[in-house]
Amino acid sequence: MKIDCRSCGHPIEVTPPSKDYEIKLNEPCPNGDSIEVNVRCDNCSAQTQIYWDAEHELAV
Ligand SMILES: [Zn+2]
Repeated sequence: MKIDCRSCGHPIEVTPPSKDYEIKLNEPCPNGDSIEVNVRCDNCSAQTQIYWDAEHELAV
């Protein structure tokens, strides 16, 4: 799975931390059960924060 660097738009390959957390979010899950990961861009070294979430109905 690829994300775009927030600074330069360079594509960064990311891997889910586990089989139960395969949904990528740009914001923390409102249920508070997402996993926060910092990804470093190869191109500009900026950190991009993403969140991995388990599959569940989003109760907003
Ligand atoms: Zn970048």
